[in-house]
Amino acid sequence: MWKNALLQGLIALLPVFLFLVWYNRPKRTRFVPLFLAAACGIALFLNARLSVAALSGIHLDFRYLPLLIGSLYGGLPVAVFLVCVYLVYRLLHIQASIEYLYFGAVVLLLHVPLIRISTKFRLGPRAKRFKIAFVCLFVMSLDYCAFIMIKNRGELLPPFRDDPGLLANWAVFLLVAVLAVHFMELGFERVNLQNALQEMSRKYRGEVRRLQQFIDQAPLVVVILDASGRIVHVNEFALRLIHPVSGKDVIDQHYRVLRQLMDIDSPSPIERVMQGDERAVEMVRFRAHTIYTIACVIKGSPGQSSDGILLIGQDVTELQQLKDELGRMERLSLVGQMAASITHEIRNPMAVIRGFVQLLNERSSAEQQSYFRIVMEELDRANGIINDFLSLAQNRIVEKQPGSLHDVLNEMMPLIYADANMRGQVVELRLTDDIGPLEINSKEIKQLVLNLARNGMEAMPGGGVLRIETVDLPETVQLRVTDSGVGIPQEKLERLFEPFYTTKTNGTGLGLALCLSIVERHNGIIRVESKVGEGTTFIVNFSKPGSRNV
Ligand code: ADP
Ligand code: MG
Repeated sequence: MWKNALLQGLIALLPVFLFLVWYNRPKRTRFVPLFLAAACGIALFLNARLSVAALSGIHLDFRYLPLLIGSLYGGLPVAVFLVCVYLVYRLLHIQASIEYLYFGAVVLLLHVPLIRISTKFRLGPRAKRFKIAFVCLFVMSLDYCAFIMIKNRGELLPPFRDDPGLLANWAVFLLVAVLAVHFMELGFERVNLQNALQEMSRKYRGEVRRLQQFIDQAPLVVVILDASGRIVHVNEFALRLIHPVSGKDVIDQHYRVLRQLMDIDSPSPIERVMQGDERAVEMVRFRAHTIYTIACVIKGSPGQSSDGILLIGQDVTELQQLKDELGRMERLSLVGQMAASITHEIRNPMAVIRGFVQLLNERSSAEQQSYFRIVMEELDRANGIINDFLSLAQNRIVEKQPGSLHDVLNEMMPLIYADANMRGQVVELRLTDDIGPLEINSKEIKQLVLNLARNGMEAMPGGGVLRIETVDLPETVQLRVTDSGVGIPQEKLERLFEPFYTTKTNGTGLGLALCLSIVERHNGIIRVESKVGEGTTFIVNFSKPGSRNV
């Protein structure tokens, strides 16, 4: 009896051992149901074949075990399959009709619940799985006892006492069942651990990759040293900065080598950290760059002193340049303000001088009058220059009113015609149909047109045509001043609107700068199209009321 029980126990455990050997890689998970169906099916069949009748007529039988293991760990299809195998085999060997009743009860109490449990068994937590397995074993034991009672007319204890085979069968069955559940859990746990490890290392690698990319792509110098001061990592930005020194030249070298290679003599914050500071900040000058560098200790795991040194540097060259530029601009602006107030004050004595010169002019002889006229003309010219300069320097807010651009142009045309006449040039005025009112300051617009027209005329020393026209566009009104003069070469185009930029011997270079500030005050845009030898067009776009684009 013992031998048979042990043999059956071994056969019942065989699927478990085979499973442990076979299931050692996560990718086999898909085939677990197939494997368990085959192995447990065969074991179930063999156990059934090996079952022998004990003294009391009860069969010593382990077939429940492969059924239990396969159903629980293989899932629903395997459970259905094994239960079917079990039932078919059992029904074929039924002898008495009372056994049908008994098997009906077994199906209802054991097999149906087993099939239901099998759908979710693997998803539950481990402790719950153990509980379920033991409840199943308990039910199976009840079933065993019930069968003994059926065979022995309601008696349970006497058969156990009389027949040691029954007890052996039961004891070995329980032991083997516990072992089987335990080993199955081990097998799954091993693969789960592998899975978790793989997942973790995949995540870790992803994290490292992301971090690496971040370090390399950040517009910062990042250098990592180990605790002894050897360079472990230099990011791409730093490599670009120290080019032609390459990564191979510096990795694994002491950081002093980097300093020598790069020829830096500013104090290195790394040295201060090496000497014991937690953190050091320094402005390092390297080639034409100014780099704001921070060195700090990389904190090791608790208990350890340090894992190395991290050096982070930001290229602040542009910031530094901007700062310097700002300082210069402030000084210039101060000078500009001073100049503006001085020129303003000069106008008063000039007005007095002009008044007296006019008085003298009226009282002097005709011959002297021509001299006084020259003095007055020059005073007027000086006054004009001062006015231009002041309107440029004072960034005042002008009052704008809805007005007609065409009216302003028509008003000034006599002046421009007269000027052109004197120079032997022709002026064409082409106004589009009525364009409606624009927000303008007519005094400033006059100054703008006059400056552009005068420049055009001055660019046509040998005579030519000056055309002033307006164009009505959907969002804007365009004012175009075109001359057929000398044109402007490309390199001069860029500097045209700079104050004091002039190519004329008696020019001031303020005309176009003033035009630009007037156009900006009107929220417009001014641009130039020019061809050397053919002529130049200044185009001013005024935005129409209600539209935002220019
Ligand atoms: P200014 O007329 O006193 O020289 P502007 O600011 O009016 O100062 O003009 C600056 C420079 O731009 C001029 O000296 C000239 O070289 C160039 N320029 C302006 N308008 C024209 C034009 N229509 N054709 C050719 N050159 C021009
Ligand atoms: Mg000019």
